[in-house]
Amino acid sequence: MDYKAIIAEHNNTSRLEDRQRLRLRRFLMALASYFIGTLMIGLLVWLGYLTPQHYLFFIGLMVFINILFFVLFKTGLNLHFSDPSLTSLQILASTILTIQISYMATGGRGMLLLLYLTSHIFGVFRLTFRQFLLLDAFTIVAYAFMLSLLVQNRPEAIDLKLELLHWGALSITLPSFALLGAYLNRLRERLRERNNRLNQALEKIQELAVTDELTSLPNRRSIMEQLSKEWERSKRNGSHFCIALLDLDLFKEINDTYGHLAGDAVLKEFSSIVTTELRSPDSIGRYGGEEFLLIMPDTQITEAQKVAERIRERIARHEFVDIAPGVTIQVSIGLTEHDDQPIQELIKRADLALYQSKKSGRNRVSVHSSADV
Ligand code: GH3
Ligand code: MG
Ligand code: MG
Repeated sequence: MDYKAIIAEHNNTSRLEDRQRLRLRRFLMALASYFIGTLMIGLLVWLGYLTPQHYLFFIGLMVFINILFFVLFKTGLNLHFSDPSLTSLQILASTILTIQISYMATGGRGMLLLLYLTSHIFGVFRLTFRQFLLLDAFTIVAYAFMLSLLVQNRPEAIDLKLELLHWGALSITLPSFALLGAYLNRLRERLRERNNRLNQALEKIQELAVTDELTSLPNRRSIMEQLSKEWERSKRNGSHFCIALLDLDLFKEINDTYGHLAGDAVLKEFSSIVTTELRSPDSIGRYGGEEFLLIMPDTQITEAQKVAERIRERIARHEFVDIAPGVTIQVSIGLTEHDDQPIQELIKRADLALYQSKKSGRNRVSVHSSADV
């Protein structure tokens, strides 16, 4: 079982989910600013600059636009866009809406200028300076277009000098806003990169904390944790499991004859052979030195005996040609089944069975059953 790949995939999925959740949260923030916008536009209605019919029409339009964005986020359709946060699109939608309101209003357009800034502020989460400038250029040109339509169609509704002043103020404020926004966005990006690096380092540390450096098997702490989980599981649902202690026979001789490095290489090769012999729910870890602990969940002792025998035979047959031609090694195995006893007792029994294997000539599997106590 490639548990690292499974963990990596799980992490990726949850990162994607986290990002979608964040996008939805930002959308809700935008919704709050729409609400504030509605209150501001309500002031225009109150002062008689906008008719209640137009007000209702714009509220309907806002609701429609926001339902559209909500559906895009909820269904994951936003992921098909080059920017899944849809920041530019959302700012664009609210800008067009505000320009329309500015056109329909008979006055009070100065106050509406604040709304352009309120929507552009969301660019801080995502936009680069260039994207900010593009949006600004669109806003400034569209605003000028709206003014020219007003001059043509409803010249009595505007004070041209004042409107040009508004337009000028917008044209100066938006780019300076863009500069600050892009700077903040860059800071955010840098922070995120640093965060990613820290997360990667943390993952590495977590992996190192549970992995044996030499054999890449779970280390003693990790395999003991798995054992206690299996023990808890068995207590909860009455499942039956077996454990085995494996100890390489006369391993000291390998070190003495071929050197410590060769001994290391044997331990590595032994570990990878045993791993290929395991069934998918089984797990093995390095218990210490040349000793390994094997956990076989949902397994009766007769089946566990077969697994242990298979491992023993496979190792005995294997030639460690990288060390020297003809080098072989044997393994003694002590096996026991879980029978409601505490973990330490379980290990003790496996150890007694291992001792039994050593005593009766090595290269064998011995079983410690409850009757032996
Ligand atoms: P037995 O059949 O009774 O188990 O004999 P043995 O020689 O395997 O047992 P002993 O306990 O006398 O020696 C174990 C040896 O394993 C001694 C130790 O140096 C070696 N060993 C333990 N860990 C490592 C390791 O990480 N690398 C190497 N190369 N040797 C190790
Ligand atoms: Mg030993
Ligand atoms: Mg040994």
